Amino acid sequence: MNYESSVGYLLEVFSSFQGEGGTVRGSCFGKKQIFIRFAGCNIAHKQFGTSGCFFCDTPEAQSFEAKKYQYEKTPSTQIFSSGSNPIEKKHLLRIVNSLISTDLHSISFTGGEPLCQLSFLLDGATALKKNKIIYPLYLETNGSILPNESQLSSMSNLFTYCCCDLKDKSSYAAEKTQWKKLVQTELTFIKTMISINILTFAKLVVTSETKVHDIEWLAQKLSKIRYSDGYTVGLAIQPVYLTQQKRVKKYSVSHEQLNRIFSAAAQFLPLESLTLSIQAHKFLDLL
Ligand code: SF4
Repeated sequence: MNYESSVGYLLEVFSSFQGEGGTVRGSCFGKKQIFIRFAGCNIAHKQFGTSGCFFCDTPEAQSFEAKKYQYEKTPSTQIFSSGSNPIEKKHLLRIVNSLISTDLHSISFTGGEPLCQLSFLLDGATALKKNKIIYPLYLETNGSILPNESQLSSMSNLFTYCCCDLKDKSSYAAEKTQWKKLVQTELTFIKTMISINILTFAKLVVTSETKVHDIEWLAQKLSKIRYSDGYTVGLAIQPVYLTQQKRVKKYSVSHEQLNRIFSAAAQFLPLESLTLSIQAHKFLDLL
């Protein structure tokens, strides 16, 4: 993992709609964003004992050794060029500048796991601001890496929004014996982001193997995390989206189960802090 470099490894940069997040505070669902996808994921590299989430929709972003990145040449055309990693900040700036459109709402840093390249993440975000690219910044993370005090202070000045994945046991993001450790880290991460005034919500992908008692446990923990105005941190429950027929059959969530999961979370969370999320971009065949 590369924590100390002002050059970074990316997989792709493109413009599209934010398809996830539903209606809770911190969500940018439906907004036009530029997506900067970082290469490399600590969870896929066995930090919690497994090779990553079985439903990972960007497995190409799991490797830290992406030789090339691709970038969209003009916004929302899906016409790409490529460059060699590691990318320098000035190239990233040039690409982001070329993807700015009149309907752009914010810029998303996603992955892989962007916090695995924390130094480049902060340097890149700072460079955007210094170069008058003043759109709000959105961080999408698995929340399993806790930044230090000085990194948090930079993040607080740079990021407006954060979507933190909470990993359900059925994701196989962690060995069963390490699952609670992973989730406790993610909950600490969410609490920390809110304490530094970043509008943060939790996203939880659920599958046919999700257990209602795990949802109750997670929702109870989340219900204790509040913003200074009393708003309880949001939870976006997202049914797993799969394309391989075999997996669709085995892991997709039935309507009945989705309702049971939602009701279980609603026992502990105020309804304004609970939402359904879908990967709308997938249903619309967008990037
Ligand atoms: S944490 Fe994200 S990038 Fe890593 S394996 Fe899971 S879904 Fe994929």
